[in-house]
Amino acid sequence: MSRAAELATCTERPGELTRTFCSPAMHSAQQMVGDWFTAAGLQCRLDAATNLIGRFAAAQPAHVRPRTLIIGSHLDTVVNAGRYDGALGVLMGLALVELMAETGLDLPFAIEVIGFCEEEGVRYQTPYIGSRALVGDLTAELLARPDEAGVAMNEALRGFGGSPDRLAEAVLDPASVVAYIEPHIEQGPVLERLELPLGVVRGIAGQTRARFVLTGTAGHAGTVPMDGRRDALAAAAQLVLEVERIGRSQPGLVATVGHLLVAPNAANVIPGRVTLRLDLRHLDDPIRRAAFQEIQERAAAVAAQRSIECRLDWSEDQPAVACDPALVAAIGQCVADAGWQSHEMASGAGHDAVILARRVPVAMLFLRCKGGISHHPDESVTTEDVAAGLDVLVRLVGRLAAAEASS
Ligand SMILES: [Zn+2]
Repeated sequence: MSRAAELATCTERPGELTRTFCSPAMHSAQQMVGDWFTAAGLQCRLDAATNLIGRFAAAQPAHVRPRTLIIGSHLDTVVNAGRYDGALGVLMGLALVELMAETGLDLPFAIEVIGFCEEEGVRYQTPYIGSRALVGDLTAELLARPDEAGVAMNEALRGFGGSPDRLAEAVLDPASVVAYIEPHIEQGPVLERLELPLGVVRGIAGQTRARFVLTGTAGHAGTVPMDGRRDALAAAAQLVLEVERIGRSQPGLVATVGHLLVAPNAANVIPGRVTLRLDLRHLDDPIRRAAFQEIQERAAAVAAQRSIECRLDWSEDQPAVACDPALVAAIGQCVADAGWQSHEMASGAGHDAVILARRVPVAMLFLRCKGGISHHPDESVTTEDVAAGLDVLVRLVGRLAAAEASS
């Protein structure tokens, strides 16, 4: 907890916590965490994509090449962030290794603690740059992308000690990885409501993002009678309520219209056109897709009823990502062994685990956070809950070690 407080002083904006990809604040953070890694006996390095990696070697004879258990999360933050989103997962990985070292237990695998360099997508408006490097998905197009100041990503990497030409070296060999475990604050209110410190993540919800354009007829707010109007905003308002109703119709479904663009957006003009953006999520892809279908049907019905033109302008479908069922069960057992009720849940937010799941078995352990608040300076977790999380991680390493040794 004191490390989390100290790490939060590495910021690019005084008075708040903001730490973006390849920034001087990220450099300070990597120095600080790297020093802690080294003091704990981890071998510390930056990979080609500038992820910070601390390796705790396995107790194996030199001729045996041990596999690796990876624990981690991200070290970058959103603008004006809290101190636990991402950082807590890295610091818990470090604390776990320190506890394992104290036990003197011979592990059949190495443990690598990873602090990903970029997850939030602030600087290049694209998330998961750090974890994408580990699955070989940093494309040439992405590397050439400029930030707001015109600095291309590969230039930023080079200036930060990365090697954009040697990114292949950062890619994980799935055969060498036991699992990727990401401890993370829940970023929502569910665990607090259940009065549970920990949650076992079953998977990360899939997401539909879509844009609808509703077109009516703009006109004078004083002269066009009510019965002759084609008001695009009134239609959009009706559609927003339909989206809310559909979102409430299924457990676990969340449906949000978070953006409306009204044209001409003037107090004395009937709205002629509205662009509406939808965000729809569920852990079960068929449920989410059926809900999207229903929303489209309701949009068409609302439009027809009001003689408005409604067009689905753009949509994107990101499938759900399942955590490894055996790992989910193992973590659940460890939570129960530690004396807590094991609660399986979906993650509504994306995480580095989404990307790593393409190559290796992943699992996540959620920690209760105060008021469900995240991406905000008021982010808060308790020492007791973090201790409970560490207890579970120690038990999990024990279980995975027994399985690895007998395989
Ligand atoms: Zn995060």
